[in-house]
Amino acid sequence: MSFYTPVAEIPKIVAELRESFQQGVALEIPYRKKQLLALARMCTDNEEQFAEALKKDLNKPKAESVLFDIRFVAGEVARLLEHIDEWATAEAPTVPLLNKLDGNRLVRDPLGVVLVIGAWNFPLMVSLCPMAGAIAAGNTVIVKPSELASHTAQLLSKLLPAYLDPKAYRVVNGGISETSALLEQRFDSICYTGGGAVAKIIMKAAANHLTPVLLELGGKNPVYVAEDADLAIAARRILWGRLLNAGQTCLSPDYVLIDKKLQPAFLEAARAALNEFYGPDPKASPDLSRIINDAHWKRLSALLTSGTVAIGGQTDAATRYIAPTILVDVPHDAPVMQNEVFGPILPIINVSSIDEAIKFITSRDKPLATYLFTRNSKLQDEFLKRTSSGSTCVNDTILQGGVHGLPFGGVGASGMGSYHGKYSFEAFSHLRAVVYKNPGMEIVNTIRYPPYSDKKISW
Ligand code: NAD
Repeated sequence: MSFYTPVAEIPKIVAELRESFQQGVALEIPYRKKQLLALARMCTDNEEQFAEALKKDLNKPKAESVLFDIRFVAGEVARLLEHIDEWATAEAPTVPLLNKLDGNRLVRDPLGVVLVIGAWNFPLMVSLCPMAGAIAAGNTVIVKPSELASHTAQLLSKLLPAYLDPKAYRVVNGGISETSALLEQRFDSICYTGGGAVAKIIMKAAANHLTPVLLELGGKNPVYVAEDADLAIAARRILWGRLLNAGQTCLSPDYVLIDKKLQPAFLEAARAALNEFYGPDPKASPDLSRIINDAHWKRLSALLTSGTVAIGGQTDAATRYIAPTILVDVPHDAPVMQNEVFGPILPIINVSSIDEAIKFITSRDKPLATYLFTRNSKLQDEFLKRTSSGSTCVNDTILQGGVHGLPFGGVGASGMGSYHGKYSFEAFSHLRAVVYKNPGMEIVNTIRYPPYSDKKISW
């Protein structure tokens, strides 16, 4: 592809960024702030252009691009700027009385050269939010956006050098060959967002250099709808979460667990919600994204036979359209229940109690998110105690990912490590323990020097 970075240039780019790091180019706090401001300005100055690129890549509605990609990055940068002085300041730790004679400090060191590998679904957010955290922590950064969102990747590689210092921050474009060439190099941290299969390749490559990894993956995020839930509200919030970016969202509710006797009312509420969001013909709505490419469209079309289509089911290959679809009578081992759906298809699985729902959830990989619709605080507590997931949102979906002050990340198969705000600063820095000893007072040190004697340990 013409916009890909030549593979032969990749080692040189990494070497340049390492040299810049060694020279302390990215270290000083005023410099970091200037670069962060420039990153936010890049997003806001070019909002229209980014929205157009996202429209070309995913037919993303402008409102979704602005709120969940472009301004999300600007918001994350604002939070980092607000707190960078506080987070970068060395702390005085609490130490035992004896050690108080010394100076003790906790210092936040940058890690070095950070590689950020992004996915295509929210291509700005998943590339630039980790990048912002790595800049705030004083690292030099290479960002490798997903080649599948090609218009956004190209625009990013054009704009980033115009706003940020190319001595410290670079974009490398490409697919498997270019990413593999990057992974041969030594980095000090790699943040990867994408699927679990590639995450294993990333982690193996990182192991060659003992490079720490931050893995932001996906999973099948369950929603349990309890008997006391307001079904109209549950249906709207679940379908909004399922259909944001046509379901190509890592935090998307993946399937619904609900008692069979509630199913007809839930479906009724779902039909009303879909009509409200997209009108009688969702294909004609400007507010529904399309599937990223033909391969994913084919994969999703095949999943439509995993159960009985209760709502939707229409497809159009030419425009990579899949209608918002709800499947019922879905066998537990149906293809749609094997892997993350990552599309606008919502299977319903019937369970007769919270115990059955929890058993179903915990017999599978730990998801990135779990969702629960109930006002019953005992049920909420029980659900939290007996399940594990990257995050949980009670009585809504997806929104926990945007709450300032909360970490964002998975657990088990859904990821490793977390970021956003302070958690990014921590993820891309090392907490160095520093002790300042008094160069005098040698007499008190003689106890630890040889020759040893029983007297020296008789206290
Ligand atoms: P993708 O195909 O864009 O791949 C992600 C990155 O990996 C890309 O930059 C790509 O170039 C690179 N890559 C692909 N194959 C590679 C290989 N063989 N070797 C080296 N690099 C390679 O994205 P995807 O994997 O389809 O992303 C979708 C997944 O990402 C879903 O599971 C989704 O849930 C997850 N996701 C997670 C988050 C999160 O923050 N947790 C956010 C978005 C997406």
